[in-house]
Amino acid sequence: MLRNKIQPKRRWLDLAPGDPVVVVAGKDKGKTGEVLRTLPEKHKIVVKGINILKRHTKAGRSRGGVSVAQGGIVDFEAPLDYSNVMLVCPSCSRPTRTKHIVLESGARALVCRHCGEPYERVRKTEAQ
Ligand SMILES: [Zn+2]
Repeated sequence: MLRNKIQPKRRWLDLAPGDPVVVVAGKDKGKTGEVLRTLPEKHKIVVKGINILKRHTKAGRSRGGVSVAQGGIVDFEAPLDYSNVMLVCPSCSRPTRTKHIVLESGARALVCRHCGEPYERVRKTEAQ
């Protein structure tokens, strides 16, 4: 039997809520924003102010993870693919790919490829 679903190798992403990112592809290319949510299973993230869609809804509906108290047109941030954004390094202020290191404590850390500074943050989500 063939498997239709590709199993993700990693269940966590390099990005976590609160991280500054820049969009490198799509209609919001070049814009920067802050990560609101991550969807590791889908390899997608939601970035504040990026990929805004309007949805016409009736009151009381909940669609796309956005609960709607009032009917009408609702702006919401649609998830975009994780590969369409890059982390912005707080040390050198450049969009960067990160490299993974494992600390002696066993904790994972990200390091900026440009300046080599470890990227530190408090993970709000479970890293496992
Ligand atoms: Zn850097």
